[in-house]
Order: sequence, then structure tokens, then C-alpha cells
Amino acid sequence: MVTVSEQIPEQMRAWAVKIPAPIESDPCPLQLVKKTVPTPTSGEVLVKVLACGVCHTDLHVTEGDLPVHQPEVTPGHEIVGRVVASGASTQRFAIGDRIGIPWFRHACGVCRYCRSGHENLCSHSLYTGWDHNGGYAEYVTVPEGFAYRIPARFKDVEAAPLLCAGIIGYRALLRANVPAGGRLGLYGFGGSAHLAAQLAIKQGIEVHVFTRGKDAQKFALELGCASAQGAYDRAPVPLDSAIMFSPAGAMVPNALANLAPNGTLALAGIHLSDVPSLNYQDHLFHEKTVTSVESNTRRDGEEFLTLADRLGITPTVTAVPFDQADQALKRVSRGNIDGAYVLEMPS
Ligand SMILES: [Zn+2]
Ligand SMILES: [Zn+2]
Repeated sequence: MVTVSEQIPEQMRAWAVKIPAPIESDPCPLQLVKKTVPTPTSGEVLVKVLACGVCHTDLHVTEGDLPVHQPEVTPGHEIVGRVVASGASTQRFAIGDRIGIPWFRHACGVCRYCRSGHENLCSHSLYTGWDHNGGYAEYVTVPEGFAYRIPARFKDVEAAPLLCAGIIGYRALLRANVPAGGRLGLYGFGGSAHLAAQLAIKQGIEVHVFTRGKDAQKFALELGCASAQGAYDRAPVPLDSAIMFSPAGAMVPNALANLAPNGTLALAGIHLSDVPSLNYQDHLFHEKTVTSVESNTRRDGEEFLTLADRLGITPTVTAVPFDQADQALKRVSRGNIDGAYVLEMPS
């Protein structure tokens, strides 16, 4: 039984990863194609996409850094849209509600991780835009229990990067164990870092940014960060915590060297190039901790969206027309980002 609000076409425009390859290849691995509009199964809703953020993970899916889980998958997991149809056994959202669809779309609910508050580590987890078609499309489905309500203060394109970049940045902040009023280093300054920086600053944390891009350094200072320097520079002060958003493992030794005793480095990416060999005295001694960050729990997502609303976090976004998704992903791969690119559907 499917409840429908409006005339829904049979076909839609969607981007698909044909054969994963470097994004600058010819032909481009990401192609605009026609797909059948999905039908929501039990527990799912069908969403008409209003905006979808462009995340670095989409590049990993497109280029094959992440193995193929679904052939010709449609990337995109920072999706803002309106519910236009509901499958059987749904009750959480009404037709017309504006909701957000994130990366994390399924966990088993019964394994020891799911039962102990670590559903992000569930070995049966599934992800939007990797295991299942995502939001570089006109329509997408989602299990209703894995979607979020979007606070009214955010426009569609503003809300999109909150759903991955924002939530992951929040979980990374939790994992980095920043003490109250402490000093935090951020390595790489793209979509996730610029939101984590705002959240940290609003909570009284001193933020120092390490990134190669001069524009990104300037942007960090404009947001209120205490300092901004090159990715391999020495920190102006010893840092209590650090988060590495960049996928460059080569930056890890410097990030560890910049930590004060008892400091924690959280590696926030889903993919990291090899870490060079470490020197125990310089990089690990004095009880330094290195941890990774894997996806997020739904609780992280709800907490972050509530905080972003209350603290007035402002995502800086660059809207890109839907039919230029390939161009947007190329720009992500070249590293020229102010805030985040968001695909906007024609209204
Ligand atoms: Zn599980
Ligand atoms: Zn993402």
C-alpha cells in the first residue's frame, strides 16, 4: 500500500557512476541518465529532492576508492526533499514534510554494537549513495527511521551540508575529546571543518586551522578561528585535540607532533592514504591518542541538528545547478572549496 500526494512520473533524471575511474577521465565516470522513479517499500518514504550536497565521499564512490556496492549507483547523501509518497507501515512523516536524508541509512538493530549505542559500527549497516541510490536524482527513497526533520531556519541548500559534513564534524568533535575551553586543531578546511569550527568556537573552544589553500586559510580566520597556517606547519600553541578532515595520511605525523600531552587526534575521513612511519617520542609518547571516526549514530545527527539550530550555525554553500554535478565533483577533487557545493533542483 503506497500513499501518494501528487502525480509522480515513472522516469527521472539521475546521475550514475558508470565504471569508477578518476573524475577527470574521458568519458567522465559520472553520467546523467534516466532511471525509474523508485517505489517506497515497507517502512520507506519517497522524497522529491530539493537539494543535495556534494561530499568528498561521493568522489571516493565515483573514483573507486570505495568498492562498488551497487552497479551504476547514484551518489549523494546530503539530501533535502519533501515527502511525496509513503510505503506501508510508515507513520513518522506526513506527505509534504521537509526531511533530510543522510549517509547512514540502515543498521540491524540487534547486534552488540546496535544494542550498546554504537550502531555506526554495525557490520550490517548500509549507506545512501553507495549501497543504495542517493540524491543526485529527482527522487529518492529512505527508511523513515533514518531520516531527520530539518529545522525551519535553514534554507534547502543550507541544510544539505549539515546532513553529512555537519554531522560527521560533530561526531569528530566528540571523538576528539576536546576539553572545555580547550585548543583544537583542524587539518583540512572544507565542508565538514567549516561547520565543526563554528560549533567549536560557539562553545568556547580555540580553533587553529592547518590547510594548504590560502583562500581556505582566509575563510577560517573570517569565521573566527584563532590561527590558520599550512598543513605541515608547527602549531602556534600546543593543542589539546585535533581532527583531520583531509584524506592525506602524510599529514598525520605533524598533527600528532602538534598535540600537547594527553592530546587526541581524530581521523574523520572514510578513506586515508598511508600514514608515514611514526616516531614514538615525537608522535605518540605522553599518552597521545589516535582514533578514527566512522559514520555516525542517529543520536549524533539529532543532537547536531538541534545544536546547529540553537547556536545559529551558518553553512557557507555554493549552489550548483543539478545538471552540473560532474563539474561540481571535479571542483571538489581539485580542492577549491569555500564551504560546500550543493546541487539545487530546478523549481
Ligand atoms: Zn547492528
Ligand atoms: Zn558525506
